[in-house]
Amino acid sequence: MKVDEAERLKKGDEVFFAGAYYDFAELKYLPHGVMVGIYDDKPTNHIDYLNHENLSSVYPCNRCQGGGCLDCGGFGKYPAN
Ligand SMILES: [Zn+2]
Repeated sequence: MKVDEAERLKKGDEVFFAGAYYDFAELKYLPHGVMVGIYDDKPTNHIDYLNHENLSSVYPCNRCQGGGCLDCGGFGKYPAN
């Protein structure tokens, strides 16, 4: 995702990274760019900070057909790209 997308994330929003969904935690502004914090290890509150470019936004599946849904695979949501 782009920086402006990352800046619109709210706590509890989901993001997609490396084949899995994670909860967004917070942004961290570092000299080399904006890092996106995700809870990587539920139920602990450990946060991993990743480059926003490596994450995808998550959208709800609007025409969801449940377990057999071809759009989202039954998750009820899908990652951008
Ligand atoms: Zn669906």
